[in-house]
Amino acid sequence: MNLLTIGNPKTLKGQGLNYATAILHLAPHTLSGVMNACPYATAGCAAACLNTAGRGGIFKKGETTNAIQKARIARTEFLAADRAGFLAQLDREIAAHVRRAERHGMVPAVRLNGTSDISWERVAPELFAKWRGLQLHDYTKGAHRLRNVPANYHVTLSRSESNEAECLEALANGYNVAAVFADVGYAVDGTLPATYRGYPVINADEHDLRFLDPSGVWCGLLPKGDAILDDTGFVIR
Ligand code: SF4
Repeated sequence: MNLLTIGNPKTLKGQGLNYATAILHLAPHTLSGVMNACPYATAGCAAACLNTAGRGGIFKKGETTNAIQKARIARTEFLAADRAGFLAQLDREIAAHVRRAERHGMVPAVRLNGTSDISWERVAPELFAKWRGLQLHDYTKGAHRLRNVPANYHVTLSRSESNEAECLEALANGYNVAAVFADVGYAVDGTLPATYRGYPVINADEHDLRFLDPSGVWCGLLPKGDAILDDTGFVIR
């Protein structure tokens, strides 16, 4: 079982971005039954989680899981049962990803929390030290993480239905905040507002390379998967 999923480089190339991304997808929140992979999750984000976006949310008739969900759960079980073994395999897969990207003349990047919110800077500080020249990037619901990550780990705060004050404080301090916009006045026609609460909104659906964004902006996203049905306030309507 691979831990990292390699993103489609053609999508980024099409935008003139020469990055090759690899993403670790675990089972979010308590879905695995063996650990909580999202200690800062709220009711709204857990219900609207990106885990159900794209192919991860497509189930055969009468079924409640699929191969993607099973792989995410298996990886999470591996991490919970054998952290050292998991980190050793992750390190090998990062090395392979870096080699492959360089062979193709691309810049490698890695996301460890594709569908989780683990404080990797605490769990595996040696990984960031070893891969000092590699750009890692993630989103988090834990505002305290913004100030406590290594230089090669870019973290974007993610807005939920209950942390808007923390988001505004982060924006005032030059950090970025991802937020999901929908409905009349915002994303009714698939467009995002120009500003929200006094800060510019950029289109964060174009790519996932948040470390390229200007600072002090909302990273605006349209709802996907179960988020389309959100009524908790997680999605801004
Ligand atoms: S913190 Fe992120 S990954 Fe975890 S449940 Fe919430 S939206 Fe999903």
